[in-house]
This record gives sequence, structure tokens and C-alpha cells, in this order.
Amino acid sequence: MAHMMADEVWVRGSGAVAMAAALALGRRGLRVALAMREPAAGRASDLRTYALNEASVALLHTLRVWDALAADARTEVLDMRVEGDAAGAALVFSAWRSGIERLAWIVDAGELEAALRAAVRFAPHVQVRGADAAPGAGVALTVHAEGRDAASRRGLGVEMPVHAYGQRGVAARLVADRPHAGMARQWFRSPDVLALLPFDRPQPGCSYGVVWSLPDERAAALLALPPADFEQALADATGGAAGTLRLAGDRAAWPLALAQADPVCGPGWVLLGDAAHLVHPLAGQGLNLGLADVVALDEVIAAREPWRPIGDERLLRRYARRRAGPTAAMGQLTDGLLRLFAADEPWARELRNRGLALVDQFPPLKRWLGAAARGA
Ligand SMILES: Cc1cc2nc3c(=O)[nH]c(=O)nc-3n(C[C@H](O)[C@H](O)[C@H](O)COP(=O)(O)OP(=O)(O)OC[C@H]3O[C@@H](n4cnc5c(N)ncnc54)[C@H](O)[C@@H]3O)c2cc1C
Repeated sequence: MAHMMADEVWVRGSGAVAMAAALALGRRGLRVALAMREPAAGRASDLRTYALNEASVALLHTLRVWDALAADARTEVLDMRVEGDAAGAALVFSAWRSGIERLAWIVDAGELEAALRAAVRFAPHVQVRGADAAPGAGVALTVHAEGRDAASRRGLGVEMPVHAYGQRGVAARLVADRPHAGMARQWFRSPDVLALLPFDRPQPGCSYGVVWSLPDERAAALLALPPADFEQALADATGGAAGTLRLAGDRAAWPLALAQADPVCGPGWVLLGDAAHLVHPLAGQGLNLGLADVVALDEVIAAREPWRPIGDERLLRRYARRRAGPTAAMGQLTDGLLRLFAADEPWARELRNRGLALVDQFPPLKRWLGAAARGA
């Protein structure tokens, strides 16, 4: 029986990436211990809705988590409209025109974590331990997935300089007076970025998850507004494009930053997810990157030479090399877009708005951008 034998892999972390890593490595037949915190009793569920790409959804399917999500906890994005800060400057993506079923899925963050928690409890090769449990002598590989504040980085000699954007991402759930029809909308309005993600909770077909990134003081002010004033601020920012929007519950905010850990592996250990990298959520890619880390680690371990131990540093460097390019590219893309849209100079305004219109009229580049966002 698995619990009678020594653990081979020790996974630390309580979020989606740690749980997905434990499940993926357990499916390989490795004996995995997941040292995690239980969610605090009475803690409100995460208000965020995550945009997940094809690759993330494929992983969740393999881990038998995707089908465990309630139908109204995952909504397809069929179209997406990205607007700049000049009239008519827009970039439109359509699943139908691209010949694909959907552009992305929008998923309830709290429900996703709950489905992963249920899956790890039933996984035959995964033992759930408390966060304070100590790894046994048989552990060959420790996977660190404790999120952005991972304390273990210090002891491992990992540097992770954080570039704080001085912005917060305000998230809430909304209900509109007209159907979303699977349309995601995003506005780049120097320096704010506002995204409305189509969702089916609480009202099927007419709900949205909102992520509004804006400077710290403005975010604090928005959180403090009475609901009716917040709704008015949304109406002003969206111009009513999605209909009249009403708040459906609480609001919360997260500090936003760009960071990359170095190194991301060493003898017998590896970093995954937000413990390894942070990106601005304007492209909805942080968790997608973390789940891609899981896939890469799992595949590198599966493809190792039979004589090579799973904690071998040369093996783990294959994981690091595989993830370095895509993670750096996403950090640069989100950071570059944010800077371009935050600049007030007329040349920057001209460039970004012409850029949107140009990309919109240049199908190959548009296709490439769409495929990159889908993780295809
Ligand atoms: C406003 C906003 C919107 C976003 N939208 C999207 C989106 O649309 N799409 C997308 O892909 N990404 C999105 N992201 C990014 C996404 O939230 C993160 O990338 C993702 O949550 C990272 O998962 P993780 O498991 O690595 O870390 P976390 O979710 O931070 O989980 C780590 C967990 O480990 C716990 N922990 C810490 N120390 C220990 C320990 N010693 N032992 C055990 N547990 C420990 C922490 O308390 C935490 O619960 C968004 C982020 C924000 C802020």
C-alpha cells in the first residue's frame, strides 16, 4: 500500500499548481506526499474567474478534474474584443473565423481548487500531509509550489527580484441585463486594463467575471465605493458595451508584479507556478504558465533514462530549459503591453492604437497571437 512505503516526491503548496503536480506525478506511479494547508474555515471562496487555455484544460482532463467541474463553473469564450484608447482601435478574435471550437474557457477559481482537492484525496499514489510535516529520508525530489510568497526560496539560495507594478487587480462577479454570448471584452485605457470574462454564475448566460487592473490608490478607492457607485464606474469604463452591469457579491484585490526566480531547480528540488514566476494578469496567463510547468516536469521525468534518479540536477535542468523561453516570452509580452498602454505620450497612444488596428487586419499575426494565448 502506498502509505506504507517511503515517499519519493514531496510537493509543497496548497494551490492549483501544487495539487496538479501531485496528481500528475502520482499518475506516473511515483509515491507523492502533498504537504498542504487546508483552506481556513469560513474563508470566502476565491472571487476570481480564470481564463484557461487549451493546454491547461487538456491537463485537467488527464487528471480527471475537468469533468468534475459543474457545468456552470466553466464557460466557453467564443469571441474576444480588445479595445485601445482611441475610437475604433480594436482587435477582434473569433473562434468561428479561426476554425476552432473556442478561444478559451473561463473557470471559477474556487471551484477549480475544490475539484483538485477532491481529486488528490482519492488519488492512490498521493498522500496528503499537513504543511508542517517533515519529508522522510526517501524523498528524492521536492517540488516547491507555495505561490508568490514561497518562504522556501530563501533556504534554497533562489533570487526572485519582484518588480511591483504599483497596481492591483480588482476582481468581482457581475450580472448583465443582456446575454454575454461567449464574448470576452478587454479595454486598455492608460494605465487601466479592464477585462470582462463571460461566465454562467450566478446567472447562466448573463454573468461576467471582472478583472480591473489599476493603480493602487484607485483600486483601493474602487473597493471602498458603495455598490451603486462601483457599477457606475463600470458603466463609464465600458460605455455600456456589455449592457447594464450589476455587482453579484463582494469585491477583492490582488497586488500585481513581474518576477522570475533564478535558479528554478537544483539537486533534488524544483520550483513551479507562482513560486517560480509572476506575470501581470492582463493576458490571463499566470496559472496557464504554472500548469505548463507541471506538464513539462511530468514529461521530463517520464522521459528520463532508466538509471537517472528523479532528483538528478541534470534532469531537472531539462525542465528549467524547457520552461525558460515560454515564461520569459510571456513576462516580456505582458510587461511590454502594459508599458505601451500606460505611456501618456502622443506617440505611444498613436502606436498602440494603430498597432491594434494593424494586427486586426493582418490575419497571420492575429492567428499567431491567438495560438500563443491558447497555449497551442
Ligand atoms: C486578479 C488576478 C487574475 C488572474 N487571472 C488569471 C487568469 O485569468 N488566468 C490565469 O492563468 N492566471 C490568472 N491569474 C494568475 C493565477 O492566479 C496564479 O498564477 C495562480 O493562482 C498560481 O497558482 P499557484 O498554485 O502557483 O500559487 P497560489 O495560487 O498562490 O497557491 C499557493 C498556495 O500555497 C500556500 N502555501 C504557502 N506556503 C506553503 C507551505 N509552506 N506549505 C503549504 N502551502 C503553502 C499558499 O498559501 C497558497 O495557498 C490571475 C491572478 C490575479 C491576481
